[in-house]
Amino acid sequence: MSSIQNREADVVVVGGGSAGLAAAIRATQNGAKVILLEKEPKFGGASNHAEGLFGIMTEEARKMSVWYTVDEVFKHSLEHSHGLIDGPLVRRAIEEAAVTIDWIKKSTPVTFWLARMSPTEPFVWHIPNYKGEERGAALIKAYVDKANELGITLLTNTSGKRIIVERGKVTGLEGIDSEGNPFVIKTKAVIIASGGFNNSHELIAKWTRFDPGRTGAATSYLHKVGEGILMGMELGADTRGFGLMTFQSVPGDGGEMQEMSPVMAAAGGPGLWVNTFGERFVDETVSFDFPMAANAIYSQRFSFVWSIWDEDWCTYLKEKGLDLGIGTNIPVGTKFDVMQDVLKSIEEGSPHVFMEDSISELADDIGVDPDTLQETIDRYNGFVEKRYDEDFFKDRRFMRPVKKGKLIAARLGVGHFISIGGLRVTPETEVIDAMGEPVAEGVYACGADVGGLWGDTYEVRRAGAMMSWASTSGRIAGANAAALAMREK
Ligand SMILES: Cc1cc2nc3c(=O)[nH]c(=O)nc-3n(C[C@H](O)[C@H](O)[C@H](O)COP(=O)(O)OP(=O)(O)OC[C@H]3O[C@@H](n4cnc5c(N)ncnc54)[C@H](O)[C@@H]3O)c2cc1C
Repeated sequence: MSSIQNREADVVVVGGGSAGLAAAIRATQNGAKVILLEKEPKFGGASNHAEGLFGIMTEEARKMSVWYTVDEVFKHSLEHSHGLIDGPLVRRAIEEAAVTIDWIKKSTPVTFWLARMSPTEPFVWHIPNYKGEERGAALIKAYVDKANELGITLLTNTSGKRIIVERGKVTGLEGIDSEGNPFVIKTKAVIIASGGFNNSHELIAKWTRFDPGRTGAATSYLHKVGEGILMGMELGADTRGFGLMTFQSVPGDGGEMQEMSPVMAAAGGPGLWVNTFGERFVDETVSFDFPMAANAIYSQRFSFVWSIWDEDWCTYLKEKGLDLGIGTNIPVGTKFDVMQDVLKSIEEGSPHVFMEDSISELADDIGVDPDTLQETIDRYNGFVEKRYDEDFFKDRRFMRPVKKGKLIAARLGVGHFISIGGLRVTPETEVIDAMGEPVAEGVYACGADVGGLWGDTYEVRRAGAMMSWASTSGRIAGANAAALAMREK
């Protein structure tokens, strides 16, 4: 029998990423006895890979003279999503972002510094620092330390499976422990925080517009297969806005997408991109907005394209560094020996990276018509000389010729960071059905298990919005679940 069998808690949290940990901490701060279940051996899920949290009207923003307002951000989100967002929910997410940053600073020793996603996006990305470590993994460490300090029961290798509801109220949660034994915890409230479904090919195919064969996960080693969303659906919950948070990337080994590498940095920047017909199809500075770049690539034949550059660009990246960083991990100006990475890929027989002396040989390698590729490169080089892109009006500051020395091509495909969309919730994070009624008393959802935050495409103007939402919604769910459980005592 499981050692967890017959335990009792006021609140059970399913999932130990930033949403679940924030929920557990807040519920405990508000007086509840909490048990948190995490199916992996370690906490953090996708949150360990993220960089920062969206925030406006924070002290950090004030010090950088950024006065971006809730109305501006909200209006942009509505427009960007073509009206598909859940208005009250997104408004709350935006309004509460600064409260969340403050709450983290009050609850833990975490500090933040402000960054921007790309040259076109505002300074709203709050990067956590905890004891000298930075980004999402540092926030998770701070949360785990705080949870331990508060005496929260944190169980790893333990999965939540089913919420038990009797007469319209939550009475327990069924799960599987680290030995594979089933158990039931008696509780009055369950907070679903399992981080979405992007490790399930089946659910990507069933719920989203994406073909799982054409997009690889950045975190293919996690096992986020929609269990939290399915638990809510089993109780009659409505869902909204299923999709993926996509980005442009070079494929790695075994189907996943590279999070970063010198070749990826060179290929994903705003160089020259051609589709599998050998033709340009977009202003490549679309790469400043990664989900938009992913859309442009995904909609091409076979859902991948080729990024092409010359030896001169390799020298530039080695001497001056990147024009477009990869988040704050690899900031603008980072110097890379791209050529070395190209040679390594070629030596390893990668089908994604090629280098040749001539356009016709390169065309042959990547399977495009040599005359078309020649024409595309000549036309592009002509635009660079004229300082005007007649085809896609690309900003001339990011146009460089492709003609000196060796020519390199790297395959650019579409990866995804996480799933988007999920359970419908009220702005208080109660899980609701299609009529807008709670599926039962005591069922809450947060983080990437929630739907209605985006249209069909993630929005980078709110850089860090998912990490912000994870902690914000966790904080709200934790407070509400604790209030309910304490009221019932
Ligand atoms: C490379 C990368 C970079 C990113 N950068 C950013 C960024 O800078 N800003 C931003 O806003 N977003 C970013 N994101 C997205 C962000 O990480 C997520 O939106 C956020 O982490 C969601 O938090 P969460 O707690 O909902 O999910 P997670 O952090 O994924 O946590 C969910 C947890 O639940 C566990 N779990 C799943 N099923 C069960 C179950 N049945 N029982 C128990 N536990 C379960 C999982 O193992 C996991 O640990 C990035 C994602 C990736 C992959």
